[in-house]
Amino acid sequence: MNSSPIPIKIFCVCGQKYAFEVHPDNGRMPVPVACPVCKRDGTDEANRIITKILNGKTQPLPPPSVNALLNSVQASLAPHLVDALKNAVVQELAAQRRDLLAAQQAASAELTVLIQRLESVQTPLLERLRAYESRIGELEKELADQSKENRELLKLKIDLLKEQVETERAAGRIKFNTFN
Ligand SMILES: [Zn+2]
Repeated sequence: MNSSPIPIKIFCVCGQKYAFEVHPDNGRMPVPVACPVCKRDGTDEANRIITKILNGKTQPLPPPSVNALLNSVQASLAPHLVDALKNAVVQELAAQRRDLLAAQQAASAELTVLIQRLESVQTPLLERLRAYESRIGELEKELADQSKENRELLKLKIDLLKEQVETERAAGRIKFNTFN
């Protein structure tokens, strides 16, 4: 198959940049390349770039920014359709913000419950920290095999817990210092 050549740009460790185009042979460099200045071999790096570009071509494109999308369709659409599309985009963004807000509220509500539970039994600082750390550990385990939406919520929860740990650690230090 005769495809278009792949542009390769290599930043050699000596500081030299060099660029060329290549028709890969089975997804690899057909010939070795080397830095024009220090002669260091650049074939591995070139192969890495070829693989990345070839894989990238078979993967879906990243979603274009809303503005780029609007600009690209604006020219080809009737004005009332452009308005309808803008409305749809605005509503979609509002829905995403609502989801994020709900996730933040859920995360901080869970943390508040945990803090209250620990405070109600006057758990010593060290044990509170341990409780937070173990919850962080659980969440991180969950995070490893979750879908995208859940991941955002889990990350939020972990961040909040880590902040709480920092806050309590700092508070513990201050108390400790005043008793010294
Ligand atoms: Zn070099």
